[in-house]
Formats: sequence, structure tokens, C-alpha cells
Amino acid sequence: MTQDLTIKQRMALPRTEMLERPGDARAKDFEEVNLGFSWELAQLEAARCIECKRPTCIEGCPVGVRIDLFLKRLASGDVDGAAAVIAEDNLLPAICGRVCPQESQCEGACVLGRKGKPIAIGHLERYVADHSRKAAQPSIAPSGFQIAVVGSGPAGLACAADLARSGHAVTVFEALHRAGGVLAYGIPEYRLPREVVDHEIEGLERMGVEIRTNVVIGRTLDLAAIRSAFDAVFIGVGAGLPRFIGIPGENLIGVFSANEFLTRVNLMRAHEPGSQTPVFDVRDKRVAVFGGGNTAMDGVRTALRMGAREASIWYRRTRAELPARKEEVRHAEEEGVRFRFLVSPLEFSGGEGRLRAVRFQTMELGEPDASGRRRPVPVAGDVREEPVDMAIIAIGNAPNPLLASTVPELVRSQSGTLEVDETTGQTSLPGVFAGGDIVTGGATVISAMGAGRRAAAAIGDYLAARSQPASSSPVWADD
Ligand code: FAD
Ligand code: SF4
Repeated sequence: MTQDLTIKQRMALPRTEMLERPGDARAKDFEEVNLGFSWELAQLEAARCIECKRPTCIEGCPVGVRIDLFLKRLASGDVDGAAAVIAEDNLLPAICGRVCPQESQCEGACVLGRKGKPIAIGHLERYVADHSRKAAQPSIAPSGFQIAVVGSGPAGLACAADLARSGHAVTVFEALHRAGGVLAYGIPEYRLPREVVDHEIEGLERMGVEIRTNVVIGRTLDLAAIRSAFDAVFIGVGAGLPRFIGIPGENLIGVFSANEFLTRVNLMRAHEPGSQTPVFDVRDKRVAVFGGGNTAMDGVRTALRMGAREASIWYRRTRAELPARKEEVRHAEEEGVRFRFLVSPLEFSGGEGRLRAVRFQTMELGEPDASGRRRPVPVAGDVREEPVDMAIIAIGNAPNPLLASTVPELVRSQSGTLEVDETTGQTSLPGVFAGGDIVTGGATVISAMGAGRRAAAAIGDYLAARSQPASSSPVWADD
């Protein structure tokens, strides 16, 4: 049995790598790339844990999953027990196991990584989430309080789950026709299958959370109406406003924001025959994606799957500074994505309104900037031009402005993020809390979930200080 191994034997075990579909096969479809662990491999990998006295991996996880304990249960064969440990801190383990940047979080802090390879914590979390039988939720006495959650991304979902677990009646309002936020409209299916997201959302609905899609707060309903109908409000509207480079030619046909391109494909199925959603026909075209983060990798790999002749990443720094998850970069390379480093676009040029070429400046690395990364500086006189048929701009997103712009009392920073109390998530309006990308700017799934959970705890305290619910009957018109 693996749990009888000595520390020395455990340390001698090599890291178990997850099986993946071959690059050339997977680059043509949207099926999931990673194939997951078998039962035997999951147990073997979990047995590599040397049960450190101070498990630094837990400190590396933004929501503090008890990694040591879940690995111990898994190594002993108790998958449901392992799932119960994870569920105490992480509502969406099947998702986090797939999309967390583990190398800079839990795995980055694993002691084994100092001399060798860290434990594959993310892959094991995914295994446990995919293979455990979920225990039935114990029924909880209703508190009588009603809470509105605006936005159904990871921040809103995590907040809603914790509030529902405390017996509060929760209604989630989502602007799009499908719940999940970036999990539904941004991250492609070959990384995060939709059934995984839908399964987690169904679990929330089974807990009694009501999800109302196609409701834009600030348009369909205003925040004042929501505040008067509910005892407290959580805002988790994310950062989905695309940033553009600000160079000539960005309005040519063929230049897209990554958000628009990915939303059309992921949410509106633009890649499927008969889809009513227009998207640029990338078949046999040269597609250039500008940026180096997860969104850029998602854009370029999606373009490749849609039949691009050449799909390339254009990044103004070098490989070492790429902010995307390492696994995404490796997968992109294996699938045939071309990487262009130290290049910065100056102008898109075209003919008859359509994109034809990009003029760009070659760069070199200078001194470190405020982020600690070496600043890219132009190489004097080295300006070139290259033909491209489609450009996807993936240089980041700004906070969604719609809701806050209709409520001047909500204090915002210069960059448009909501100002909140760091501990509680309380905004400038009493009873209105916020968290996730709308507060931090674009970050990670797990950090948004952590913020949602902290706000849920603070909402619980806020309600406890009130003697009885003040919420009225629902305010929406379609009932
Ligand atoms: P969102 O997920 O943005 O959800 C906000 C929701 O609010 C949306 O559904 C939106 O429609 C809704 N909304 C907005 N305005 C209103 C309104 N007025 N009324 C009602 N609803 C409204 N992170 C990782 O950890 N790993 C990854 O691999 C990763 N890949 C990414 C890939 C892409 C393409 C993108 C864009 C992001 C990625 N991220 C990744 C970042 C991560 O997805 C976000 O940090 C996270 O989703 C933020 O969660 P959120 O709940 O704050 O906001
Ligand atoms: Fe690691 Fe993310 Fe799981 Fe935390 S939630 S243990 S950071 S994979």
C-alpha cells in the first residue's frame, strides 16, 4: 500500500504526469486536452506527499485548501473523504483543478519543488472532484434574509454558495443568457468542458440558489430597486471590458478583441456549422494574437482549432515574462502555435477596410519596471511589416463599468475598480458588498472565489447585527 512507504521512498517517487491528447490531434477540435489520472496513478501521486509539519502548499492556495489532509485521504483510498476536505474551502474544485495557475500558487509553494518536482496538486484536486460522490446537502433552517448577488462568475457563485449554506435565500442576477462568467464565456471547452461548469452551477441550484439570467443590473433593473427588495447585495460583475492598444487601424475589419472573439465561439458557438453568430472566417488565414496571458493563449489556440493556417502570439517581452499558465504555453507550442517575442505593434494597415498587415517595432529588454519585470524598450530604427489576415487583441480587460456608472455613490478608483473594505468587501454603500475582478482588476478564478467567500462571511455578520429581515417582495417585472 502506498501509505506504508517511508519518507525516503516517497521522495524517490517521480511526479506522475497526466495523460494528454497528442498536440496534432487536439489542435483540430474542442475536446478536452487533459485526460486525467487513473485511480492507481492518483493514489501514487498523492503518496508522494511527505506530510510536512508546516504544509507551505496551503499557504500558497488563496483559499487555504487543506491540501495535506486531502492528499492523505486520497492516498489511503478515501476519495469521498478527500472531497469533503476540499469542499470545506473550495466550492469549485473541478474548475480550480483545471484552471488555477498552480505553479505560482499551491504547487509553487510545495517543499518537493525546491529540489525536484512539486506534487501535482491541481491534477489531484481535479481527480477527486471528478470522481467523488457528492454528499447530500444537509437541510438548513431558512434565516428569512434575502440576498441579491449580481454577476454569476466565480466571485458571485462562491458568495452565493456560502450564503445559501447559512440558510439565506439567494438570487443571482446575470446579464448573459448563461451563468458562469468567464468560466462560461471566456475559457474554452478544451480547457474547461462546459458540463463541468454546468454541473457545479446545478449543485448551487440544488442548494436553493435562484439564478436569473438575461438581467442587466443598471439597465433591466437598477441597484436601488435591488437594495430595497433585498437585505444585502453582493456585486461580482468582473472585468470584461476589453482594452485596445490605441494604434491606427484597430477599427479595420479583421481586428477583434479577444473577449469578443472568445465569447462568440464559447457562448454563441460561432465555430459550429449553422451558427447564427458572425465571426471572422479564419480558415487558411494568418492570425496574430497580441498579448501573453491566458486570454491570449485561449485566443490563439481557438483560432488554430477553427482552421487558421498560421496562429501566432506576438509579445513585447520574452518567454520568461509570459504571464500565462505554463501548461497553456506548453500546450500552445505542442499544437503548433508560433511565438514572436520582443515585438510591439505600431499600426494595422489594410485595403478596402480590411486588415492586411501589421507594422511593428522590434524590442529589447531594459531595466526592471515597477512589476519587477525587465521593461521592453524599442531597438532604434528596427521597424518592420508583416502580412496578417486577422488580429486578436488580448492585452487585458478593464472593470465592467455599467453598474457602477449608474450609481454615483459607489466609490471607484481611477481605473474603475470598486473601492471596498479589504477585510469585508463592504463598498461605500451600506449593505452592498463587492469582490472579484471588479475590485482587483483581472486576476484569477480562485482569488475571485476567495473574495466572494470573505464577503459572504461579512454579509453574515452584517445580517446578524439586524434583528429581522427587511426585504420586500421581488421587484422584477416578469413574474
Ligand atoms: P467574471 O468571471 O467576469 O463574472 C462576472 C459576471 O458578471 C459575468 O458573467 C458578467 O456577464 C456579469 N455581469 C457584468 N455586469 C453585470 C450587470 N450589470 N448585471 C448582471 N450581471 C453582470 N483565471 C485563472 O485562474 N485561470 C485561468 O486559466 C484563467 N483563464 C482566463 C481566460 C480568459 C479568456 C479570461 C478572460 C480570464 C481568465 N482567467 C483565468 C481570469 C478569471 O477567469 C477571472 O479572474 C475570474 O473569472 C473573475 O471572476 P469574477 O466572478 O470576478 O468575474
Ligand atoms: Fe491549488 Fe487552486 Fe486547488 Fe488551491 S484551489 S489547492 S491553488 S489548485
